[in-house]
Amino acid sequence: MFIHIQNVETYAPEALGPRDILLAGNRLAHLGPLSLGGLPNLETIDGRGLLAFPGFIDGHVHILGGGGEGGFASRTPELMLTDVIRGGVTTLVGCLGTDAITRSLVSLLAKARGLEEEGISTWIFSGSYGIPAVTLTEGIESDLLLIDKILGVGEVAISDHRSSQPTHDALCRLVAEARRGGMLSGKAGLVNFHLGDGPRGLGPLRRILEETEIPATQMLPTHINRNPTLLAEGAAYARTGGLIDLTTSAPPPQAGSKQIPASQALKMLLADGVPPDRITMTSDGQGSLPEYDSEGRFSGMGVGKVQSLFEAFRDAVRNEGIPLETALLPFTANPARILKLRGKGLLETGRDADLILVDRESLELHTVIAKGRILMSQGELKARGTFEGASTVTKRVSA
Ligand SMILES: [Zn+2]
Repeated sequence: MFIHIQNVETYAPEALGPRDILLAGNRLAHLGPLSLGGLPNLETIDGRGLLAFPGFIDGHVHILGGGGEGGFASRTPELMLTDVIRGGVTTLVGCLGTDAITRSLVSLLAKARGLEEEGISTWIFSGSYGIPAVTLTEGIESDLLLIDKILGVGEVAISDHRSSQPTHDALCRLVAEARRGGMLSGKAGLVNFHLGDGPRGLGPLRRILEETEIPATQMLPTHINRNPTLLAEGAAYARTGGLIDLTTSAPPPQAGSKQIPASQALKMLLADGVPPDRITMTSDGQGSLPEYDSEGRFSGMGVGKVQSLFEAFRDAVRNEGIPLETALLPFTANPARILKLRGKGLLETGRDADLILVDRESLELHTVIAKGRILMSQGELKARGTFEGASTVTKRVSA
């Protein structure tokens, strides 16, 4: 299958100007002037009025569902393929959350494999909120070495009442194991840290950097935009070499949360002198979002959406005025580099055939192509998950 996108304004994410893009199977085969005739199985897309970007990478998604902190009925549902497509996401990393008892790494791995079969690229993190980390094999190192889909550990909770209150020594050992496993397996070995509202903030990670030889690139703290204090602390942490991640799913404004929208937070960080290559964004998709009424009473449970990732990108460009090339980094080149996903994050010959096309004016999603397959065309879904849209079986057919 060949896909020829003609004359499209291309952001790799750096601006390349109008290009022709040829996708051959699962590879980006050519970027530049091109005239084709007689190629079998060739699909042509007129790129005029569109912009081409690398497919988005979402590095923190509760693909199995998460939550559960309000009892069993508050466990959130599993991710569906169409949620991913509508977010312009072609690659994601699945993780467990607070609950590592009724959710397991075995199920997480199976779900990731299922999504991969349905058409996107997936990896997972070992571990969950608590330490010692839950693992599939005897430890973090062997998980990284033996399971292709595992590329790090997360989300490990710190500075949160729901954390396992890990000691400094336990955190050091965890990051060291992830680092060794990453080096030996040629993977990132990244530790994704969930930051709560607690006053310790990023203190535990700063102490690791001060007292050990572990480099800052081994750790990616997330939810940095959950309140203004943590965002300011995150800016200082990133200016001195740390990596930080912003969460795009957010409770509604009336829910009493102090979270700063990720697009605004990005603008503040850049204005604060944080180098743009140290910032990523993730959706926290399928995580639970408790909602409260004006009196602060629990009123219901929302679910984080992968789609919020693309909305944050649009807001960053349209509302915050961040240039396209910069606004794309936290969704494309940065996560690909930080997670060591070699085929991802850039439009470049030889990379995977993952790209999105958006309307030049509205920045609405137009086309999503993952691994050379068109999942959305002209804003319409062209693929669905196995159980999406299927008719409900009401009668058992006997053989
Ligand atoms: Zn979290």
